[in-house]
Amino acid sequence: MTHSPLPACWCADANLQASLSKQDLAAWRDYIALQELVTRLPIVIWLMSPDLKQLFYKSPGCEVLWDVPSSTETGCFWLTGILDEDAEQVTFTQEQALDKGILKDTVELEYRMVDPQNRTCWVSVRLFPIRDAEGKVEGVAGIGEDITQRKNTEDALKYIIHQQTLVNAIAQRIRRSLEIEAILETTVQEVQNLLLCDRAFLYRLDFDWSGTVVVEALRSPDYSLLGRRLTDTEFIANYVELYQKGRIHVVDDVRQSNLSECYIHWLTDLQVRANLVVPVLHDEELWGMLVVQECEQPRSWQAFEIELLQQLAVQVAIAIQQAELLEELKTTNTELQQLATLDSLTQVGNRRCFDEALPQEWEKMALSQAYLSLVLVDVDFFKAYNDTYGHPAGDECLRTVAQTLRTAVKRSTDLVTRYGGEEFAILLPHTDANGAVQVAGEILSRVRKLKIPHCQSKVSNHITVSVGIITTIPHPGLSYEDFVKRGDQALYEAKHQGRDRMIFAEYPEFLA
Ligand code: GH3
Ligand code: MG
Ligand code: MG
Repeated sequence: MTHSPLPACWCADANLQASLSKQDLAAWRDYIALQELVTRLPIVIWLMSPDLKQLFYKSPGCEVLWDVPSSTETGCFWLTGILDEDAEQVTFTQEQALDKGILKDTVELEYRMVDPQNRTCWVSVRLFPIRDAEGKVEGVAGIGEDITQRKNTEDALKYIIHQQTLVNAIAQRIRRSLEIEAILETTVQEVQNLLLCDRAFLYRLDFDWSGTVVVEALRSPDYSLLGRRLTDTEFIANYVELYQKGRIHVVDDVRQSNLSECYIHWLTDLQVRANLVVPVLHDEELWGMLVVQECEQPRSWQAFEIELLQQLAVQVAIAIQQAELLEELKTTNTELQQLATLDSLTQVGNRRCFDEALPQEWEKMALSQAYLSLVLVDVDFFKAYNDTYGHPAGDECLRTVAQTLRTAVKRSTDLVTRYGGEEFAILLPHTDANGAVQVAGEILSRVRKLKIPHCQSKVSNHITVSVGIITTIPHPGLSYEDFVKRGDQALYEAKHQGRDRMIFAEYPEFLA
């Protein structure tokens, strides 16, 4: 049997076939095939008068689309049942395309309509004029389709994008700071602003799972819990592990909830009427909770609010982690800095430390026109000491002398450094000649009092030091290099005059 492209009902009507000419037969065949297509497609097609007032034809598409019989009583309900909110826009667009009441241009519309079964659907409608050979509008054809699903998907996408934009904006504000306190503060402020709740706070957990409210943002100061240490026994007993796995806690109305009697009591005491809690997980550890509460009224927490809070909790955790890393980095840097400027043998500042500090102090004292003093200390006959008692004993002696120098200076701004070998340099900002001489005298006497035996010294039986002192108010006529050189000359002079003594640099022209 050969396959017939024609519908079975028509093929069976042999008389009709026989009565048609070949041309009519072809046209009839096309018409039937088209009608089949139109019936099955999820679209509705119709023909109207040029003024859109009379309906000539309506395809049965509304059965496929909306399960509504395509009887004449229902009419073109997708054109008449337009939702009030959209009606104005539809009328306006249509009127734009009309010329003296006749449709001249194609119109494309998207709007919501209520179907005969009272369901609200989104429809897309296209109306276009059909013209005769002279271009006169003979009628209007319409194609309609249901786009509810597409619109819902679009709405869902828009919602996701909106939420993501919101979270990103908040996250940026949270991360603008690298100080933990500021991060936490911003977070609760942002959450409270966004959700317009009575209370938003971060609750930091301790090792025993009790916790403290570390930051809060409130609608009224009466709701404050700041600094409160809360021990949620219910949480400790049953929920720690669950929160660690990301559990969230949503209670619309504490009074109507199925929480335990004592837990409701506990929450009520804290003025909690509606509660939303999400965990802040840091390195898979439960760092704490981000909590949003209503204190007076119940609140039906929305899915988007819950999601938003969860996403923000993730952002907070990341921000905390970054801030902590920065903190560690800062500590390591400070330690490295100290190591780089510390003399490993004597534990006082090294030469680099002195070289860095001198220009800075020089500058500062120049600006404030204050005295800067330098005390240079050199151990007497130290080569002989090493030769007699050995190098390790020499090292020990240098350590002891360095610590003695540290105890001889009193101000936190005084700086003791090892200038090189057995020589030390002490910078004394805001110290005039009298002060510097006093420090030098203290050094001489304290070193003597150590009574470190030195049988090869030509000036004493014990270790002694020689001291050179210089004081000035820094000014353009003197460089700090020259200042040190003069100090060194004073030290040399002390050696020359017999050691175990101090010499003040001859530099009267620079002293006030
Ligand atoms: P003066 O009284 O003129 O200062 O004589 P001095 O022997 O102290 O001076 P000199 O410059 O001739 O010798 C300094 C010695 O200090 C030489 C060196 O062995 C010793 N010295 C320098 N640095 C260290 C150190 O780190 N440890 C030890 N043990 N000795 C050091
Ligand atoms: Mg020496
Ligand atoms: Mg020396």
